[in-house]
Amino acid sequence: MVFENLLQLYHLFNLFLGTAGGELLKAGVEFFVLLIVAYMITSEWTRTKAKELFYLIISFSFLALQKLIIIVVFAHVSFLGYNYDALAQWIFPISNFFEILGMLLIGNSFTSRLFRKKAFENVVKLQTYVLIGIFFILFFFWYSAVFPPGEVLIRKHLFFFVFQMLKIFSFTLPIILILNYTRKIDKYFGNAIIAFLIYMVNPVIHIVNYIFYDSRNASLLVLSHPWPFIAILLFTRVIYLKLVDKATLRKQVKTAKEKLAHEKELGRLKDSFISVVSHELKTPITSIKLYLDLLLKKTLGPLNNQQKKLMERVKRESMRLSHIIDDHLTVSRIQDKKLKLNITKYDLSDLAKDISYKKIANQEGIRLQFDIPSNFTVKIDPQRFKQVFINLLTNALKFTKKKGKITVRARKNAHHFTFTVKDNGVGIPKNDIPKLFDKFYQVESHMTRSAGGSGLGLAIVKGIVELHNGTIDVKSQLGKGSEFIVKIPQ
Ligand code: ADP
Repeated sequence: MVFENLLQLYHLFNLFLGTAGGELLKAGVEFFVLLIVAYMITSEWTRTKAKELFYLIISFSFLALQKLIIIVVFAHVSFLGYNYDALAQWIFPISNFFEILGMLLIGNSFTSRLFRKKAFENVVKLQTYVLIGIFFILFFFWYSAVFPPGEVLIRKHLFFFVFQMLKIFSFTLPIILILNYTRKIDKYFGNAIIAFLIYMVNPVIHIVNYIFYDSRNASLLVLSHPWPFIAILLFTRVIYLKLVDKATLRKQVKTAKEKLAHEKELGRLKDSFISVVSHELKTPITSIKLYLDLLLKKTLGPLNNQQKKLMERVKRESMRLSHIIDDHLTVSRIQDKKLKLNITKYDLSDLAKDISYKKIANQEGIRLQFDIPSNFTVKIDPQRFKQVFINLLTNALKFTKKKGKITVRARKNAHHFTFTVKDNGVGIPKNDIPKLFDKFYQVESHMTRSAGGSGLGLAIVKGIVELHNGTIDVKSQLGKGSEFIVKIPQ
């Protein structure tokens, strides 16, 4: 009983929608919805200036304009007693023109992100010109003596059929494009396709009515009413969701940016803290080393063997501490761009003359080989480049087992010289390589732990090489060894 009543109510409502008052109500609601949507998109467009949104604004404005025309017509019919047919025959082609143009542009704006900007704009222009051309011809025949207005009812007219076909075409095109050019139909495209299909129900019903019932079937007419309105609500929903998505995304980007800025600031504070502490430690450690030297040189009296041994150990540890402090200071000077190079000519083969490294290598049972041609003169800051050499070589010594081999090699061509330190030691896991030159980064392994170190050596090497406008690369295989390749332009 309730169901039957509801059904009857629905039917009556649909019938009402077919009357002048119903049409007025429908067009009025549609007009306001379209205006709200156009306003929403415009406020987003002023921020992003996206082409897609621009087309949506125009298309929704055209649709709103069409609804406004309909409102004017039905207001005249409802309130001023005008004859609908007489009015509609004048207004009908124009209102259809705006509707079809609006639909064509909606379709285009939904497919715009499938194509390159320039090609897309050309297609839109072409479609618009063709449509305007078709309508000029239609207008001409419609308003000319060939089909004198007032003679035939609009719905029986052939032109009515043409308009409906154009409507169907303007929405089938974007559906075909979306289905053809997207690999995965996402929520946005899915909803758009549904809205296109629903909008098409109205022209399809009209065409069926035209072909089979000479446009006289009243039930079909009643049935055709609600669809464009539902479709417009769906379009509104799609666009609303899209705008909300965009707003959420914007918010997320903003939060991420703020977080990054905050982290950067924290990093900067940490760096400056380390730099200040290192500076403060520099003076006492220098004094400690000085007094230790005085004691070890027996200036203040003789030392027994045990005292001497302990003193030497203290000296070794204070040297280590001093190196760590120096490394921190170098890193912060590189970061603050305060490290200046003193470029001169330097014979790189001189590096091989420092035999202390060979001694250390010998003690560790490692073969250290220098392959640097004699008179290998290059333009570098010798003091800083030695730091590169020492850091790479100490790493190679630390991470190469007994009976291993380390080769220090240099070659040059017209543009640059290459300096490599190669070992056949433990190697570096592939995942660690990209982070190797970061400050404090150390590969997680028992070898690194037992070797000690602060994780600053390679950061310093990279900083100095880059100050020379050079590059540094690593080739390494776990268990087979590593090769650090420095290239410096000349
Ligand atoms: P540190 O040697 O003070 O730990 P580095 O910045 O010089 O810091 O090196 C970072 C990490 O890179 C080292 O802890 C080590 O794990 C890895 N590494 C550097 N050179 C080699 C090498 N020749 N062979 C194997 N691992 C290396």
